[in-house]
Amino acid sequence: MGIHSKIRKLFADYLRSKGFIELPPVILSPITDPLNHPTAAAQVKCYGKTYQLMQSMIFHKQIAMLYLDKIFVFSPNIRIEPSRLRRTGRHLFEFTQLDVEVRNADREEVMKLCEEMIVNVIKSIKREDGDKLEFLKRRLIIPDPPFKRITYKEVYKKYGKKFEIIVSKKADAPVWIVDIPIDAREFYDREDPNNPGFLRDMDLIYPEGYGEALSGGEREYIYERILYRIRKKNMDISRFKEYLRIAKKGLYPSAGFGLGIERFTRFICGLKRIEDTTLFPKIPGRLCL
Ligand code: AMP
Ligand code: MG
Repeated sequence: MGIHSKIRKLFADYLRSKGFIELPPVILSPITDPLNHPTAAAQVKCYGKTYQLMQSMIFHKQIAMLYLDKIFVFSPNIRIEPSRLRRTGRHLFEFTQLDVEVRNADREEVMKLCEEMIVNVIKSIKREDGDKLEFLKRRLIIPDPPFKRITYKEVYKKYGKKFEIIVSKKADAPVWIVDIPIDAREFYDREDPNNPGFLRDMDLIYPEGYGEALSGGEREYIYERILYRIRKKNMDISRFKEYLRIAKKGLYPSAGFGLGIERFTRFICGLKRIEDTTLFPKIPGRLCL
């Protein structure tokens, strides 16, 4: 918990030093991330209206861009993942994303920011918390940016469906997976105009088998494009009506990412299980405090 707490401080300090403003998290809203994998709905009724518990603050980040140009949020997410995921060492059903968004930014800019931020935080932890790392017997290597890049197509061809964990086990430094196919992600990820069928998206994969660190990319921001992408997924437009009402008036282009804090803590500490990164872990399928 000492390192976990320090990690939150270091990320926030770094982003503030670059001119970012921290937003308080949204917990309930009529709109949340639909995600691209199955989770059970988490809803509550308030005043006769249905609210979702946040699966991510993606839509709120895009709306926040109307007012602020560089934001971050420590955003608690509830994702009721299938209980078979409890043994991956990477999944909780309540976790916190460090959610970052930059107005008028492109993918390159955001990837560079991620690299600098992660290197900066790892350096500080090594410098300031060497005794704790020693206690955990963790030998942390400071990665050297720019991190290696592979396209989704390449890794899929090489390693098949389970590429995330294979790439991670083979890597000795963080590696980017870029150009994710349109069907593999959500409608709000921007399709590459120069590479139709693929997104201006990226995932960062930790080395040593720790799996995915973050996902991010550029966003669809033109109303007609958003509608087109929702329809292409055969999703019900009315599910997103509060978001679409605002998008119709105009959104800014933006790019950003979400980095799981518990997964980052697990990687830094070299822990086998994600549930050991926090005091009250929510383990899929279990009754948890
Ligand atoms: P996503 O947008 O779904 O890629 O989520 C952003 C980041 O949040 C991921 O890259 C992970 O670091 C983290 N994350 C996603 N789902 C979970 C989960 N069930 N438990 C812990 N961390 C998660
Ligand atoms: Mg992801």
